[in-house]
Amino acid sequence: MNQTVSEFVKELQAIVVEENATDDPAICASYSRDQHWHFVPAKNPAYVVRPANKEEVRQVLMLANKEKIPVIPYSTGINVRGLTIPVHEGSILLDLSRMDRIVEINPEMKTATVEPGVTFGMLLEKTRKYKLRPAFPDAPLTVSVLVNYYLRGIYQTAAADGHDHVLSYEMVLPNGEVIKTGSRSLSEMPYFRYGVGPDFAGVFCAHPGTCGVVTELTAKLYRLYDNRKVYFIGFDDANTPINFLHNLMHDELAASIRLVDNQSWLKGICGTFDYEYEKLPKFVACILVEGLDEIFEAKDKLVSEYIKESGGGVLDFPEEFKRTFEEESLGGAEKSCMVFGLRGNYHCIGLYGPLKLAGKYYELHERTALEVGIPEAYIHYYVNPIYSFHGQLCYFELDIFYDGSDLEFGEKLRNYNRKQFQRLLDLGIYGWFRPYAGIIEPTVERIGYLAEVWKRFLKVLDPNKIMNRGKLF
Ligand SMILES: Cc1cc2nc3c(=O)[nH]c(=O)nc-3n(C[C@H](O)[C@H](O)[C@H](O)COP(=O)(O)OP(=O)(O)OC[C@H]3O[C@@H](n4cnc5c(N)ncnc54)[C@H](O)[C@@H]3O)c2cc1C
Repeated sequence: MNQTVSEFVKELQAIVVEENATDDPAICASYSRDQHWHFVPAKNPAYVVRPANKEEVRQVLMLANKEKIPVIPYSTGINVRGLTIPVHEGSILLDLSRMDRIVEINPEMKTATVEPGVTFGMLLEKTRKYKLRPAFPDAPLTVSVLVNYYLRGIYQTAAADGHDHVLSYEMVLPNGEVIKTGSRSLSEMPYFRYGVGPDFAGVFCAHPGTCGVVTELTAKLYRLYDNRKVYFIGFDDANTPINFLHNLMHDELAASIRLVDNQSWLKGICGTFDYEYEKLPKFVACILVEGLDEIFEAKDKLVSEYIKESGGGVLDFPEEFKRTFEEESLGGAEKSCMVFGLRGNYHCIGLYGPLKLAGKYYELHERTALEVGIPEAYIHYYVNPIYSFHGQLCYFELDIFYDGSDLEFGEKLRNYNRKQFQRLLDLGIYGWFRPYAGIIEPTVERIGYLAEVWKRFLKVLDPNKIMNRGKLF
């Protein structure tokens, strides 16, 4: 602990006790960068504060608001897009990882209520015994459930789960007021999203930055089934599988669907590097079928029929590949990190759009990457249809796996981004995975008066602009 603590640190320490507030440069430096250093320059926060509960969060926010000091909430801090890296000098990094209580698992209601520091791994361990699971992103099990859902960036490894997992939450605003969304605002029962008035749970979510600090969130849990079957189907191009995927989604047959290229994600999904992936067809559809006994059998029969008409060939992978894909989709797995093993670093543009554009998104990805000098072998792709498929909703990922120590490559990626954001907006997308810096600026230019309303809305909640300030407005 720093020997010469400033008056301001003393005020912070009076709230969270001495050991949980510091301006020690060595500790602050450990929060200064993430994997996206090619895009988001490293910067130290001036203070790191680690509150233990909602009341401490409230007091820190009120103090910061009074002094107009920017606050960056940080739950597990894994975000790979610079979202917890300070923009301004003198910021407080509010590390919420001590707030890691699973407040409630309610198997009757199929819900879990968690604090920011609860990870997917922690939650799964507790829900599994009820044959329930949270909806998983394709992220490590060590990331925050609350933040993942609050950022609303989750895309579905389980096609059957849908997109919205948040039922309600409570959030502390910079002025110290606590707001509760959905049925939480009326009762002690936090189980319904649309309790009263507008859908405030949606309105406060997914800003570039945040409106306040979410201290507790209630989320949906989903069934775990015993009957499961996995198929891997190879295709030579990204257009042929479109009809097949459309049929599976339209008839609600598969629990998890991913179309990936034969490298990168397939290695991540299958969990091994000891396989000649490069000899496989260029694209592989990974399909998981599950359900109660007779329902499962009926679904599986229909899936097998669609596979025959798909234009692709069933790949005979080892059993362990199948098990890993099951786990990755429904039970969480650490395997997704293995994709980094390909070249060390991973850059992606994540977006939502209709399945019918899958081929076009891939063509554009390839064209722009080659134009800026990215080698063909570094170009990867990922399509994930999302239940219930209205608007043919899919998550797409235009990926580049690269060596992060290659500084020239960083310039290529920045060129790629500049061109590709505009081109994708011109081609047509539903929205971006997350509103991270760089991507959001050209986007707000296209949303008309909504941008103005958005700015004013944030000003009402955060007039002193302390919440993750500088990320956009
Ligand atoms: C290998 C890898 C793969 C991934 N794949 C996926 C994926 O497939 N799908 C997906 O959805 N995500 C994916 N992610 C991202 C990951 O799921 C999210 O980053 C995570 O769920 C959120 O936790 P975090 O630690 O990143 O949050 P943090 O880094 O702590 O915070 C992220 C943002 O939320 C804000 N914030 C943090 N806590 C709060 C709070 N309590 N209240 C208000 N604002 C807050 C922060 O200020 C910051 O802006 C992946 C990450 C990795 C490393």
